[in-house]
Amino acid sequence: MFETTIAGSLPKPFWLAEPNKLWPTWQASGEDLARAKRDATLLWLKEQEDAGIDIVSDGEMSRQHFVHGFLEAVEGIDFEHKVKMGIRDNRYEAMVPVVVGPIKLKGRVHQIEARVARAHTGRKLKITMPGPMTIVDTIADRFYSDKVKLALAFADLLNQEARALEKDGVDTIQFDEPAFNVYMDDVVKWGVTALERAARGLKCTTAVHICYGYGIKANIDWKESLGEEWRQYEKIFPALAKSKIKQVSLECIHSHVPPQLMALLKGKDVLVGVIDVASDKVETPAEVAATIRRALKYVPKNRLFPCTNCGMAPMQREIAIAKLKALGAGAALARKKYGKATTSKKRKPGKPRTSRRAGRSRPR
Ligand code: ZN
Repeated sequence: MFETTIAGSLPKPFWLAEPNKLWPTWQASGEDLARAKRDATLLWLKEQEDAGIDIVSDGEMSRQHFVHGFLEAVEGIDFEHKVKMGIRDNRYEAMVPVVVGPIKLKGRVHQIEARVARAHTGRKLKITMPGPMTIVDTIADRFYSDKVKLALAFADLLNQEARALEKDGVDTIQFDEPAFNVYMDDVVKWGVTALERAARGLKCTTAVHICYGYGIKANIDWKESLGEEWRQYEKIFPALAKSKIKQVSLECIHSHVPPQLMALLKGKDVLVGVIDVASDKVETPAEVAATIRRALKYVPKNRLFPCTNCGMAPMQREIAIAKLKALGAGAALARKKYGKATTSKKRKPGKPRTSRRAGRSRPR
């Protein structure tokens, strides 16, 4: 009960990339960079395990940005001549690459980090990828000239990589769709269809993360313009509830989302944001448990997964670690207070799995 997880990203150590930035510059290149990415992945696996996170992530140490990390592995995209574009309905401007030809994967995208993480943790492992709608909102297009067509083309590439990640032993594949909170009508028209296409045929757990963005100024200003109650989820959750996606990750703590909207996700696992990533103030375990309790009114115990509101990439490392600990401790407290303690045995870190995956070869 109350298995903990995180939205995905964690701060990059200073020796890997410039800290506290959304589009940081790598501090090394070639083999040195590959080694630094691997080291940082291991470091964050350990920190997550020590903090009591049950479903761990690679922390997105191997990608510069949550969208462009995927796009760099796609043929038909010009990264040399990026253009300035307003993204998320012009909330902020970004330098984005351009689609200039038919898209296809150059090869594997997240294989190295997935296999490194798989080999070094016995916990459930989550790998995140941008969702199709968020990708088309973070790239310029001079070839397809049709948003939906382009999104479906990206969905096929995401699906190709997702199936391979599943073979690598990944337990949860999450698609990040912050654009779902911006283009709600399009979500219902084609966004969920594209998302399901990205996830089709997967037997592992599938998730979608929908947030109000990282704690950067443009997002904070935007949130202030949304009024007393943020009801974006109300428009999209019914469509997601009908979809084949198993889990939905949403913002809760310190957001103006009416908690009763979580009830619209009947039948889904709900990854409830109990850690605020837009504030450096570290939650106490009691605060985390109180947020879990609020969510329990609308989400059944066995479907509630305490999580972070969003990724922690731009945060300071020490604060992110403290927040991970608060998440783990808060969930433990909630288990004690609001439900019987779970009796399932947790695997020790580093101990090879002997359960349902036994016999499946996993590169180490
Ligand atoms: Zn997010």
